[in-house]
Amino acid sequence: MPDFLVVGGGVAGLVAARRLALGGRSVELLEAGSLLGGQMQRHTLDAVVLDAAAESFATRGGIVATLLADLGMAEDVVLPDIASAWVFRTDGSAAPLPATGVLGIPGHPLAPDVVRAIGLRAALRACADAVLPARVGADSENLGALVRARMGRGVVDDLVAPVVRGIHSRHPDDMPVESASPRLRALLAERGSLAAAVRSVRTAAPAGSQVAGIRGGMFRLVDALKADCERLGVRIETGVRVDGVEPGGVSVGGRVLSGQVVLAASDPTQPAPERRRLTLVTLVLDAPALDAAPRGTGVLVAAGAPGVSARALTHMSAKWAWLADALPGRHVLRLSYDGDPADAVRTAMHDAEVLLGAPVGGLIDADSVAVWRPVPIRRGPRADGVHDIGEATAGTGLAAVIDSAERAAQTLLGDSRSPETRDRMVQ
Ligand SMILES: Cc1cc2nc3c(=O)[nH]c(=O)nc-3n(C[C@H](O)[C@H](O)[C@H](O)COP(=O)(O)OP(=O)(O)OC[C@H]3O[C@@H](n4cnc5c(N)ncnc54)[C@H](O)[C@@H]3O)c2cc1C
Repeated sequence: MPDFLVVGGGVAGLVAARRLALGGRSVELLEAGSLLGGQMQRHTLDAVVLDAAAESFATRGGIVATLLADLGMAEDVVLPDIASAWVFRTDGSAAPLPATGVLGIPGHPLAPDVVRAIGLRAALRACADAVLPARVGADSENLGALVRARMGRGVVDDLVAPVVRGIHSRHPDDMPVESASPRLRALLAERGSLAAAVRSVRTAAPAGSQVAGIRGGMFRLVDALKADCERLGVRIETGVRVDGVEPGGVSVGGRVLSGQVVLAASDPTQPAPERRRLTLVTLVLDAPALDAAPRGTGVLVAAGAPGVSARALTHMSAKWAWLADALPGRHVLRLSYDGDPADAVRTAMHDAEVLLGAPVGGLIDADSVAVWRPVPIRRGPRADGVHDIGEATAGTGLAAVIDSAERAAQTLLGDSRSPETRDRMVQ
């Protein structure tokens, strides 16, 4: 009987299992699928293994970089190209994304790059934010309503919606203000305008790139975690779907396994979470017209923009130098879609040409991957002694889930001293 049963072999489960094993505990990790990594999957295109999902991590707090250094991968951390991304607007034209914003909300509404992105009329409307009383929009339930009230529709439609849609796959009208930026509302009250609040958020953020990647692909993190878990004696079982969870163990098809449970998966005893389908289409192209990276690292698309159905395009080989080196003479594009586009590769080729404003050349290889994203629900702390980690409690993104897994494991290591030791401490 292991000390801990970790349910779910995504990054959160692997990180927790590793940390618990480093603390000298025996750990069994149970993964329903045939592969580890959960949402962090990979695919092979033009004979090179590429990330099929996550391609970067947030640098905030140094959480992911610390883990990578622990795993001996510090030298493999790479920064993306600094070229700006672009926005494809509701009128079908494209402009570079303004530099000094938070989720597309401008810190300086009259800056030349903002005027270029949304036009002078919309930029002047956005300036009203500076003179409106701080209470205007302050009670808005969602980000879209807040920005619309303070800066007008143009900022929402041509800046905030494309950015939020590209990053979080939802419209700002469906995004609570606090999920977008936890301090934004308080800073609006404190600083008196939304633009000033945005500038404060930017100033508080550490200098340098907000994201980084791993040379060779983010999936290498999964392989390194798996190897370290195995080295530390974690028993990893794939193809094992847990169907019942309780504090002292789990059940798998009528079999009961005992151990303290760390749940790094959706709770099998609860109704399945609502999910949305996204499709990611990766194209490998022989396209000299893209050598100049006409849209920097990619394009975020405004909802309802004419002639395209993609919601974002990443010029992966312009964003990551290691990828350009791995596929010389090729360009790698990734387009993302809500739902399931008909004839995905052909649609992506068409959209790429429109969004990049250049011929995309010959198709060398392509893959279309369906991804099911859970509609975010945050589980509160459980009363039953099962320890929840990963997306369900921490939110989306590797920095958040790794942090939650490390913290939970540290707490459990503190709590899981032998009963004799605990008794002695109580006495
Ligand atoms: C397309 C896409 C792009 C992304 N891009 C980025 C990015 O660039 N940067 C970033 O930081 N994040 C990104 N993310 C988000 C990031 O990948 C996730 O937040 C993170 O991988 C979640 O890890 P997790 O371990 O909490 O959950 P998951 O990866 O979902 O792992 C849960 C695991 O539990 C298993 N499981 C479920 N039920 C059971 C059961 N009953 N019994 C046993 N096992 C079970 C599942 O099979 C799965 O392996 C992206 C996600 C997607 C889908």
